[in-house]
Amino acid sequence: MDIPTSSLYNQHIQKKRNSRFGFALLFIASVGLNIFLLFFDKESNVAVASLPQDTEAVSKISVEPSEVLSEKKPQSANGVKPASFIAPSDQVLEGQATHTLKFKIKNSLNYTVCAIIARENGCAALSAHIGRLMAWFMDIKKSMRNGDSLDLVYQQVEGPEQFKILKLSYESQLFGKTYEAYYFDEFDHGNGGYFDREGNEIAQRIVETQSPIRHYIEITSLPGDFRKGAGGHSGTDFKAEVGTPIYSGFAGKVIRTNWNVRANGYCVEIDHPKLGIKTLYLHLSRVKVKPGQTIQAGQQIAESGNTGRTFAPHLHYEIQNRKNRETIYNPFTFKHHKSYTRNIPPQHNEAFQKTVNLYNSVAKES
Ligand SMILES: [Zn+2]
Repeated sequence: MDIPTSSLYNQHIQKKRNSRFGFALLFIASVGLNIFLLFFDKESNVAVASLPQDTEAVSKISVEPSEVLSEKKPQSANGVKPASFIAPSDQVLEGQATHTLKFKIKNSLNYTVCAIIARENGCAALSAHIGRLMAWFMDIKKSMRNGDSLDLVYQQVEGPEQFKILKLSYESQLFGKTYEAYYFDEFDHGNGGYFDREGNEIAQRIVETQSPIRHYIEITSLPGDFRKGAGGHSGTDFKAEVGTPIYSGFAGKVIRTNWNVRANGYCVEIDHPKLGIKTLYLHLSRVKVKPGQTIQAGQQIAESGNTGRTFAPHLHYEIQNRKNRETIYNPFTFKHHKSYTRNIPPQHNEAFQKTVNLYNSVAKES
């Protein structure tokens, strides 16, 4: 159901002539040397990103001097190689190198990223990651403008996600402001997120008692995202480990389970007449309810999985209008779902600011 990569192909944005795009390529050429110096100059006081400790994407950044990368750092258990920076314009990207990218939008996000990074090196996947994050700031189809500046610090990771964005900064001409997002998870390992410089989370979260999933890695797609077809993606995708408990946020009755397993995988549909909606849960590993069964708000109904048409474990959560299934609600604007954002806990502020400074110095050096 969800192919994160091809997402932004069809995106068209308003065109404004811009002749400065050529600078981006020139810029990239200088990136390699600078990052190399940053990462391997052991005399410098600049802290650098540590190798990931787990097999999923990069979720841990250390700013401890003892964690400074060197060529001698042994390989981690999952085979991630020590950093060896390769400029994005090169043909091979590997290991845990940290890359930077600066460019001005031309034609579309995907077009611009793919003009710098070859398709075979995952430009579509990278622009999809950027698009996901940007979706919290603006409707990128409507609000991106040629000449907007984007500044990125990212890593390549193993697995279908391919990339992990550490820092994104986007200067919007339309809104006359710069949006920033920094990845941080030290306050809650494996459950991190993107925050602005002041430590306010970028992405929203549904309150736990109403959330279809309480522990997830990140939201990888929102309703209306990418996709061919008029409405785009019809649900919200929560990237999560297989076996994560899935709940019904509202009281209701199970309509059906496991229809069209080939596409949806194991799945559940629940009717919520009082709210005028139906909710759908796709790609499950295990369904724990039966058609006709009455469900309480907050009741566990399934476990998340990777079944059906999917490339990575995630929950597809969909809220449909009960009378018109073409009408889809975004959980973060849907009136019956309460949502919130997190803040960096005070005791982690110092570590967060160090992370912000680290990413900014990486971006600046490039
Ligand atoms: Zn989905």
